[in-house]
Amino acid sequence: MIVDELLRIARDENIPVFGIGPAAEMIDEPPGYRPDDFLPGTQSLVVFGIPVPRDVYRTESYPLETIWRSQNLLYRRLDTLSLRFSALLEENGARALPIYGCMPLGVNEAGSVVGYVNQLRMAEIAGVGVIGKNGLLIHSQFGSRLMLGGLLTTASLPAMRCPEIEEPGCPPDCRVCADICPVKAIMPERKQVKIMTCLSYTARTPAMSKLKFAIMSKLNPKAAGRYMSLTAFDEHTFHICSKCVALCPYGNGR
Ligand code: SF4
Ligand code: SF4
Repeated sequence: MIVDELLRIARDENIPVFGIGPAAEMIDEPPGYRPDDFLPGTQSLVVFGIPVPRDVYRTESYPLETIWRSQNLLYRRLDTLSLRFSALLEENGARALPIYGCMPLGVNEAGSVVGYVNQLRMAEIAGVGVIGKNGLLIHSQFGSRLMLGGLLTTASLPAMRCPEIEEPGCPPDCRVCADICPVKAIMPERKQVKIMTCLSYTARTPAMSKLKFAIMSKLNPKAAGRYMSLTAFDEHTFHICSKCVALCPYGNGR
């Protein structure tokens, strides 16, 4: 069984969170951002997560550099695993497309930076967590610290999640993330982040001219997305804020 083989690799690679869900549940994504727009005939979503260790977000010595390095290394590991799982599905007669974390990026009609496929939504459908008021995936063991890999496939795989955890979601009275955000980018009622407000504050991208990007976004959003993907992906961007992750108390009791 292909699912057994996927799970065996996940175990061997120490992937603590793994899930499969039906692609049909993403039908309400905007046109151009649905699984079928990238891989026609997509049946299943496969998503997995690896946490950034808690003390990466707690250290008082060089915290930003430590977070930056940890996230960049994990992106590469997760994306490599997405490729490996996709190749395995292909060897077994299905089509499969890896979905990378934060790559490639696009620019929508409103001029906002967007991921091509909503990986957080994929993760929620696959049952590996729920979207919190900070707009990130939250998990009752790993809080907001999970980083994700995943893929789309035409294989019709049974829905499953490992481990089986019922996520209660954010406590109704918690607003830590929204209150702590220095630029009030978090909209807790909508479980969304004003992404351009957040990025304008936190992202430092030496190789990308903000002026050039702003002009390109207006004239040619597709070219602007490619420019950003080429110049700002992982170690080419430094973030000076991760407070909504670092201070989220979800999962602290585990
Ligand atoms: S990273 Fe910082 S600026 Fe961005 S939403 Fe989180 S707390 Fe706000
Ligand atoms: S800080 Fe509180 S409200 Fe925000 S995501 Fe974490 S648990 Fe939810």
